[in-house]
Amino acid sequence: MSTVAAETNHPLLTALAEVVGSDNLLLDVDQRKLYSCDVYSEGKLCAAVVRPTSAEQAATAVRIIAEHGYSIAPRGGGMSYTGGYIPINDTTVMVDTGAMNQILEINETDMYVTVQAGVTWAQLYEALKPKGLRLPFFGTFSGIRATVGGGMSNGALFFGTARYGTGADNVLGLEVVLADGSRLRTGQAAVNNGKPFFRTYGPDLTGLFTHDAGTLGLKTEATLRLIQWPPESAYLSFVFKGAVEIAGALSAVARSGAAEEAYVFDPGSTAKNLADADIASDFKTLTKVIRGQSSLGKGLKAGAKLVAAGRGFVDQDLFSLHVVCAGRSEAAVKDDVAIVRRLAEEHNGEEIPNSIPMAARANPFQPLNGVLGADGDRWAALNSKVPHSDAAEIITGFDKIMEKYQAEMDATGVFITRLMIAIDTHAFSFEPVFHWFDSWLPLHKKIPEPSHLKKLKEPAPNAAATEPNCLWTSSRINPAMSSDHSMHKNKDIVD
Ligand SMILES: Cc1cc2nc3c(=O)[nH]c(=O)nc-3n(C[C@H](O)[C@H](O)[C@H](O)COP(=O)(O)OP(=O)(O)OC[C@H]3O[C@@H](n4cnc5c(N)ncnc54)[C@H](O)[C@@H]3O)c2cc1C
Repeated sequence: MSTVAAETNHPLLTALAEVVGSDNLLLDVDQRKLYSCDVYSEGKLCAAVVRPTSAEQAATAVRIIAEHGYSIAPRGGGMSYTGGYIPINDTTVMVDTGAMNQILEINETDMYVTVQAGVTWAQLYEALKPKGLRLPFFGTFSGIRATVGGGMSNGALFFGTARYGTGADNVLGLEVVLADGSRLRTGQAAVNNGKPFFRTYGPDLTGLFTHDAGTLGLKTEATLRLIQWPPESAYLSFVFKGAVEIAGALSAVARSGAAEEAYVFDPGSTAKNLADADIASDFKTLTKVIRGQSSLGKGLKAGAKLVAAGRGFVDQDLFSLHVVCAGRSEAAVKDDVAIVRRLAEEHNGEEIPNSIPMAARANPFQPLNGVLGADGDRWAALNSKVPHSDAAEIITGFDKIMEKYQAEMDATGVFITRLMIAIDTHAFSFEPVFHWFDSWLPLHKKIPEPSHLKKLKEPAPNAAATEPNCLWTSSRINPAMSSDHSMHKNKDIVD
């Protein structure tokens, strides 16, 4: 039982309730348990959860918490698996940005948008779309809950990443509350009456606060750059026989600059993703595919292809590469498509129906049933970014290391799938995902849709799978393989 919550008249709680109101100060044990776990693990029970609605409230709350000697853990959508906000002591107050969810300014003249940190990627996508605008990187798969503040703090990447990089690559300025409660603006907005249109004002303080896992302060606002919504798009998928071969194709597509997204599923993740998502029969997806094309004729053709492909179109023993091209004109996109096809062919790829990238774009922010695997399994992803020249080495080196632990993993029911993602022209992301069967954390019972949860059976506890001396949990403290997208490669992992 936590020190503070045990005493409801504790001066810290009284002071916090005065700032945010008692409705936005959560003390209930079940609520605190939910906030004290992420997708991977649970920590100590937090002392309280405070939900400010404004930067002023957030700054005052942070100052008060620090003055009382308590730890502060910023939390956005809680959709990470990095332990980034997990309390390591029972005197932690979680600062949940969920109630700071206002889009403050969409500036169509200067092409930026300023949001409170708790705005989700899905919220922003929906608000910008009717204006014909988009973020260059426009969110993570978890974007129905994952927030801009969380994404700036832990290296969010996916939609748009092959052309525009990560979320942090596209931020123009931040407002950060420091531990003493002071509010710091970065970029041009730091100047008196300055507009947040440019990232630097002297040294790049904006960059300093990105990918920090919230350790350097609480982000309360972010300004992101905007682009015009590309009116034309095309989707391509290919299969390849081996991991190294497909990695070569992914790097080539990345270097060409022809794609907005380019990503690879290994055979295991293809099977799991197709089992998780009822791609072709999902009416919502289908109508969005049709609407997403630049004309009704094209839309109907794309929708018909999606239905025809069904779910059995990827041979589940093969690696698959999925690519989205997008641009201002049909001719420009055609050129990009031709480049991608040529590169895939040069790497011995075989083209297959494009249902996966088309469906992912049509319905980018799905309900987060995926916090659990298709069979109710738990999972956590590790991530490493390498230059293209090291891609083959990290893939084969990882497999070599894992071979040593195969018997141990088999005994505890741990299995691995792999993702690869192109980040702009210059970086290759290799992401092994570890799966195992284990009892669920409060978050796993709360986040999926109830109808989805009903179809799954909670597995029995399986502590052996994540024991500290087990390889993949110990790799969490190895800087080479981090479950945070912001970490870099350490050579040792492949030596
Ligand atoms: C089904 C699923 C799909 C996913 N898909 C992707 C994907 O496509 N791409 C990807 O990159 N990740 C993905 N993730 C991982 C995760 O959702 C992302 O990393 C996401 O950016 C987390 O955002 P969040 O708002 O939930 O942050 P949280 O999980 O709440 O926090 C993440 C970190 O940021 C810190 N933080 C949060 N808000 C603030 C703030 N305002 N100020 C300072 N620090 C803060 C926290 O302390 C913590 O260290 C996925 C996860 C799931 C479960």
